Amino acid sequence: LACPPYRGRFAPSPTGPLHLGSLLTAVASFADARAADGVWLVRMEDLDRQREVPGAADDILRTLEACGLFWDETLIRQRDRTEAYRAALAGLAKQNLTYPCACSRAQVARLGRPGIEGPIYPGTCRDGLSPAQHARAERFRAPSGAVAFIDRIQGPQTQDVSLTVGDFVLRRADGVHAYQLAVVVDDAWQGINQILRGADLLLSTPRQIMLQHALQFTQPSYAHLPLLLDEHGRKLSKSLAAAPVDARDPYPSLGRVWALLGQTPPPRDLALPDFWSWAIPRWRIDQVPARQTLAAINHGG
Ligand code: GLU
Repeated sequence: LACPPYRGRFAPSPTGPLHLGSLLTAVASFADARAADGVWLVRMEDLDRQREVPGAADDILRTLEACGLFWDETLIRQRDRTEAYRAALAGLAKQNLTYPCACSRAQVARLGRPGIEGPIYPGTCRDGLSPAQHARAERFRAPSGAVAFIDRIQGPQTQDVSLTVGDFVLRRADGVHAYQLAVVVDDAWQGINQILRGADLLLSTPRQIMLQHALQFTQPSYAHLPLLLDEHGRKLSKSLAAAPVDARDPYPSLGRVWALLGQTPPPRDLALPDFWSWAIPRWRIDQVPARQTLAAINHGG
């Protein structure tokens, strides 16, 4: 059977400038797509206005370009996609796979047993609200049973969402659609069939696969890249102290993430203009360390 043409993406959230951790994800997703003669898209995940840092989106895009990471097709922004999320949610509601939830965060925290990502939703509103209650969030009725997939880097994964997360939120109390829904809708709409992203999302993948099945979308293939840790063992991708990639001189950062990805070091006399034509044919996903975290030693040095 012929493989469908490769379509990958990088989906940054504009919560700050591009740092080494997000550059690693961008580089790996770009190299994997280009090595397969594939399409590589950039999607700005600016769904959550509260977390958005003004100017960060442009800053990220300028830095990607400075690194020679040029994307195909038109960049999409999640803030323009509300209608699509609404339609997907309506489709799930029609199948009785969603329900309104009146619980506050504090109530869920008090009643829910600890799960992989905070308290497991105890199912309080599953059977409907009383007339006195008012709906806050909209939840997905997570079917029980294990979801399994094979990650191209991390290997076989399995998770029972109903036992580890519970019915999860698709639209938050403030009306914002949840990342889990938006990412599934956008990946399907953009025809993405290969996802390389940070291992912080490994535990989200079974939820996304469930939504893909419920919405009758094709399940993409997944590869979760190790997260960079700073010298204190904190996620570089989250740490505020993570130094931004210097858009005026990005080559040292590019070389560093290439090495962290376990790839063959470039010849000493290579410079940025020739880096990608040298690197793409040499990209080997099987050399990426099959770990969920990695120390970003000597960063900035
Ligand atoms: N926007 C997410 C982030 O920056 C990535 C989402 C994804 O790749 O699925 O962490």
